[in-house]
Amino acid sequence: MSDSEKKKDCGCNKKKTKIRQLTEEELKKQSTPVNKMTMVKSFASAIVSRGMTNKKTTEPIKRLRVLSCLGNEHLDGELPPCQHLQQSKTEGKYFCGGCGCGDSARTWLLAESDEYSKLDYPNLNCPLKMPGFSNYSASEAHEAEEPVTRKYYIENMSFTDIEKVPVTTHENPPEPKKE
Ligand code: SF4
Repeated sequence: MSDSEKKKDCGCNKKKTKIRQLTEEELKKQSTPVNKMTMVKSFASAIVSRGMTNKKTTEPIKRLRVLSCLGNEHLDGELPPCQHLQQSKTEGKYFCGGCGCGDSARTWLLAESDEYSKLDYPNLNCPLKMPGFSNYSASEAHEAEEPVTRKYYIENMSFTDIEKVPVTTHENPPEPKKE
């Protein structure tokens, strides 16, 4: 096999997709307006979904949420983080600056493996309605034009690439036995 054929095989010649961030206007338009009442309602619905047994969302959904919020540049991918992603004052932690919940252990998107983090809630809304969240809405046709939006990019990622996103596994307590 020639050197150029080997290069083709290893995937390093793969064309990079041009990805763009939202313009200020799009960001404003697409972000769900947040007021105190919707915040409380949304958080209440997340809490209810956690239930008495600390239920967590599934791994495939959590992978999509991690991509939506953090992107995959930290995994040698090409997807930048969300524009609403904020670094916490606590080192290594991040929170969503778009939902108005602020920076606290309760709002950190990811936590240590045995802890419960925001991205674990079975029912969770995203101000930008990104993939993996309960209020997800598909990208619009114009978002497919290069440079594509982050939402369109995630929607078109291969299953293999999505599977590469490491998420903490979690042991659900066994469901109570039905009598
Ligand atoms: S929850 Fe939505 S808006 Fe907030 S950081 Fe994640 S993807 Fe961005």
